[in-house]
This record gives sequence, structure tokens and C-alpha cells, in this order.
Amino acid sequence: MGNFYTDVIQKEPRFQSAARVADLALLEPITRQLVQQIVDSAQKMGISLMVFETYRSQARQQELFNNGATKLRAVGVHHYGLACDIVRSVGGEPSWKGDFSFLGQLAHSSGLIWGGDWGDPSIHHSFVDPVHVQRCTIARQPALFAGTWYPDDSYNPYTDDPHLLLAATVSPKPAGSKSAGGQPRSQGRSHNKLLSECSAARPMFSLRIATPCRVRCFLRSIVSCKDAQPWLDKIVILKFPLLAVLFSSVLL
Ligand SMILES: [Zn+2]
Repeated sequence: MGNFYTDVIQKEPRFQSAARVADLALLEPITRQLVQQIVDSAQKMGISLMVFETYRSQARQQELFNNGATKLRAVGVHHYGLACDIVRSVGGEPSWKGDFSFLGQLAHSSGLIWGGDWGDPSIHHSFVDPVHVQRCTIARQPALFAGTWYPDDSYNPYTDDPHLLLAATVSPKPAGSKSAGGQPRSQGRSHNKLLSECSAARPMFSLRIATPCRVRCFLRSIVSCKDAQPWLDKIVILKFPLLAVLFSSVLL
């Protein structure tokens, strides 16, 4: 079954264009509607916004990467018509200056993920993109890039199933295979890799999914960092009294 990416974007003359695209028509219809809603709401708040970028080709991503404007070589959610960069309009010119937390509030109330907190303000994100919104959780991205998932009209990233999300991030496909969307599998793989590491490019899991990764990183830091070793000793020393207390409470 087709979707907006396969039916519209892949057939679009600008599919390979290296030029920036700010056309709302290349946003998936629900995303388009929500972005428009955000721009209108901000206008009512007295904030003038501008849709700076909607669709992005792999060619443009590569150019941005070559220029050092992005750390990601593989194009992301923008490529699928599900992400939009919204900046301030100052005298008709785009501006990234000032606080964009209002955009986070508007995005959240519209059902879009904001790049300022990637849908979860309760965890620290080492990479933020305050002008970016998307209609897809970060955990869904590998499946999106692999062509095995695309949101339907009722999809809401804030009510997405966390178990499905975890499964989507831990089952990589065989290398070299082509995705249903025609994208090279390496694209999905590289994102999988980024998402599976506690790196700056993996800021975006929900708390439940982030926790195991954080625990692994913490344990790794204990093992690899000499300064942290005394903590490990303390844990070992504390273990025996704790076990004794537990056993006695069970026996009594
Ligand atoms: Zn963006």
C-alpha cells in the first residue's frame, strides 16, 4: 500500500533537488495541517513565523554535511515529508534568534514532536534543534527510513506504543538489502547505529526506552573510568549487608 512518500514525494521533480524546499505541499497532509495550525496560532500570539524547510533531498543533506552544517550524512525525517523547520520571520527574513520554547508548546499541543526536547522534556538531550518539528517519534525513525512504516492519519507520536518502538530499534535488517521505499538500507543502518549509541545524535527516546541505554552507559563509565571505580567498590561492599537484611526479612 502506498503512502505520501511513495505516491507523491518519490514522484516529485524536486526529489533529487539540492535546493532548499519550503513548499508546504511536500509535507504529508496531516503534518502540513498541523504545521499550518502552529504558524496560525503563533500569529495570534503576536509571533510571526516562516516555514523555512519542508522536504529535503539526500543531495541537499550531503551538501549540508559537506559544509559542516549538519553532523548527519544521511537525510532524516524531512525526506519523508514528516518534518518541518519553522523559524521567526523578522522583516520578511528568516531568524533563528530568541527563545523557541513557544514552538515546543505549540508543537506538543498539535501532536508534533519538537526538536527542542524530542518529545520528552524529562531527559537531557545533548542535541537539540529548536526550530524543528516532526510527526514521528525518534524511535520510529529506523522503520520509517527502512520503508517498513509510515504514519497513518490517526497516528499521534505522543500515544505511540513504547514496546513497538523498542522492537523497531533493536531488529536491524540484513546489510545491503533494499527497503520498500527504495532507500538504500545503509541509510536506515546508519541511523540505527546512531540511535543505538548514547551519542549526541541519539537524543530522542522516551524515558522508558532511554533508561536501559543510560544504565549501560553508566556501567560502561564505571568500568572505563578509574575515578568512578570506588563507586563500584561501594556497591560490592554494600551488597552483603543488603542481602542479609533481605534474607532476614524473608525468614521473619
Ligand atoms: Zn529540521
